[in-house]
Amino acid sequence: MIKKRIYLGLLAATMLLFAGALGYIWLTFFQQDGGWLRYITIVAVVAVLACLIVIGLGFAGIVLSLVSEKNITFLNKPMNFTFSLLYPVVMWLGKVFKITQDKIQRSFVEVNNQLVKAKQGKLTPDRLLILLPHCLQERECPNRITTNTENCTRCGRCPVGDLLPLSERYGVHLRIATGGTLAREAVKKLRPRAIVAVACERDLTSGILDCIPLPVLGVTNDRPHGPCFNTYVDPDAVEKAILFFIQGGEGNVFHVSAN
Ligand code: SF4
Repeated sequence: MIKKRIYLGLLAATMLLFAGALGYIWLTFFQQDGGWLRYITIVAVVAVLACLIVIGLGFAGIVLSLVSEKNITFLNKPMNFTFSLLYPVVMWLGKVFKITQDKIQRSFVEVNNQLVKAKQGKLTPDRLLILLPHCLQERECPNRITTNTENCTRCGRCPVGDLLPLSERYGVHLRIATGGTLAREAVKKLRPRAIVAVACERDLTSGILDCIPLPVLGVTNDRPHGPCFNTYVDPDAVEKAILFFIQGGEGNVFHVSAN
């Protein structure tokens, strides 16, 4: 929960900032001028207030969903609005409070994952896409697996060889992308209903924001050799995420035989 609190705290602080700005506009301009400025102020205040109400509803939906572990369906739109619209302000505020980008993004992914897990439902495997980053592949491996995953000989030198059988076992789509453009192309082409994405916190965050309202479960990769170089992901974590979607919820995941 501590991880989630970072993002939620910054989200709440962002809302306070908006409310403060609203009060400032009102007190500074509305009181001063009896002419046309007064009307502009009223329009600006109503617009910011409307935004603030939607953001407030979204924030309430996020917190309620996290606490109850249930999807608050009727608040989904404001939740998505709050999640995506406030992200840049949250990052800026994080900088002001000297919270590292990594920490905020990790917290963002945690919050996102829990919100996705609060959703009920079950997908047919062909509507699920697994997106893997190219940096999981062993750097010296000569096989071009981004164009065709069949080129991987599953030699065991990197986690790709353990992840490919998962897509075969469960019948889900799997793509290895070198960047956001290829990932977006795969999403456009395959039109999945949900995504399991493996990446670093930064790429997961931008991918999740890009895909809203599509549910994306993010699995963070380990970077023992530094960023973008021979990274690693635990295949069990990816399998668990796949099962979450195709077995219809966390509760079922633990009762499923992997074979
Ligand atoms: S498992 Fe082996 S063949 Fe497959 S991508 Fe990794 S290093 Fe290359």
